[in-house]
This record gives sequence, structure tokens and C-alpha cells, in this order.
Amino acid sequence: MVTPSISLDTGGTRLKVGVVTTVGNYREHNEDNYFVPGRASIGPPAGPGAGGTAPDGEVATEPAGLFVVADGMGGQLAGEEASRLAIQIIPRELRGRLAADSGGDDRAIQEAIRAAVAAANREILAQSHLLTEFTNMGTTVVLSFFHRDRAFIAGIGDSRAYRLRDGRLEQLTRDHSLAKALEEAGTIAPDEVENHRFKHVLYLYLGSPDARDGPEDVRPVDVRPGDQFLLASDGLTGSVEDEQLIELLRAYADPQQAAQALVDRALANASKDNVTCVVIHAL
Ligand code: CA
Repeated sequence: MVTPSISLDTGGTRLKVGVVTTVGNYREHNEDNYFVPGRASIGPPAGPGAGGTAPDGEVATEPAGLFVVADGMGGQLAGEEASRLAIQIIPRELRGRLAADSGGDDRAIQEAIRAAVAAANREILAQSHLLTEFTNMGTTVVLSFFHRDRAFIAGIGDSRAYRLRDGRLEQLTRDHSLAKALEEAGTIAPDEVENHRFKHVLYLYLGSPDARDGPEDVRPVDVRPGDQFLLASDGLTGSVEDEQLIELLRAYADPQQAAQALVDRALANASKDNVTCVVIHAL
């Protein structure tokens, strides 16, 4: 069955969106989860005390401009639960905060996003202390919130957001991996990051006390017709090089086809991880 793209209007920008997630080549569980208005990955609760998930078919359609990818980590079902909580809580919290402040200026939106992510962090931390099977669970999160002619971008961990404009791919988020921190400190060279043993070790993620205030940076970027945005877990970005991302994003007029092609390429490149990507076209 071919999944159709989703068309959305965020009060100024018309968007067309495609999303694909897969457990991948080797893993038994898919610890990635995503939210796209009207279509989210979250299914039934993953364990005791995890209640509150909307039943299948009742995925929230608001906030209309919000897209989230979360990549969980932790033993057994803990990673799935952490990313599921992020996907459940962030849209709900952001919805409530945006409704309470109808002004919608940049600062209010940035603050609402920060607070929504902080709320998810609190809940994940609380659950991981409460239930032994969820001890030390955590998750990355990357999100974009489109509002009028802007997108607000935030991330914690190493899932990424990109913008493709005029054939140029720009990473809009910063990886919170130890390898990246070593590079930023000048301890290792930029070309050492890719294969560094700390590449996948995160010093900041949801479910850690250090993330209590939410993302340090909620970055507003302008959105023009023809721009493409990509949100992805490291199952994609760790196995598909930038040139291939650009080539595949440019090859498809339909974002759902692009998302599928990106995931297929990650699997063909022998990605060992779960793979998730959201492709957003500004029309
Ligand atoms: Ca991953």
C-alpha cells in the first residue's frame, strides 16, 4: 500500500509531508517514534504505568505545524517507552501552551517549545525512577514547529534537522554527542568525529537532569516556497552521507516518496539501527 503525503496549512505556509519509520535490518524493536499532525507512531503503552496513549486512529492533528522525531535508548522496552513519552507529551504540552498564549510572537513560541520539552523530560525522569524496567531510559528529540513564514527548530541528543534550499543542505541542529563536544573543544579534528568511539555517546538527552530546562536553543529560521526540511534519527544520518541526502531529497516531488527512498537507502547502506525520517516540503 502506498502511504499518501499529508498536506497542511500552518497559517501562512502550505506544507506537504511524508514520514517513514522502520525497525531496520538488525534490531528487534523500533525505539524511534514520531509525531506528524494526524499521524503518529505511538501505539499501545509499552509497560505498566504507561497509560494515557490515544487509541489507534485518534492521533492529534494539533499543533498543526509540529513535527517531532524521538530516538529512545535503554534496555528492553525502556528506549521505546522514553521516545513514546516524548511523542505523547510534547505535542500535548505545546498545544496547551500555545492556546494559553494566543499572541504567538517569537519569544512566546520559543518559550512554549522549551517548556513542552522540559515537561517531557520531567515525566521521563520520573518514570525512570519509579519503575525498575525503565531505569536510565532516555531519548533524543528533534522538532520543528512551522508558524506563518517561519520554522522553530530544536533538538536534544543526536537526531537532526536539516534544511535543503537551492541545492544546499544545512544542518540546523547541533549533535550532543561526546565526539562532537571533543571536536568543539578542539581536542579532535572534524574528520575524526564520524568514526570516533564516542560518536554515539550522548551527554545530553531527554531523561537526564541536565535537560531539565529543555533545549538550550530554539532556533527560528525563515521558510520559503521550495524549501525542504528533514528530521531524522541517526539510523538515517549515520548511514547516508550528505551528498546522498541531497540527491534523494531532490529526486522526488512527493515527500512521502522521498522519505521512503531515504529509508531504503539507509537500509541498503547496511544501517544497523532503527531508521526514521520526516520530509517536509514548503509549497
Ligand atoms: Ca538510533
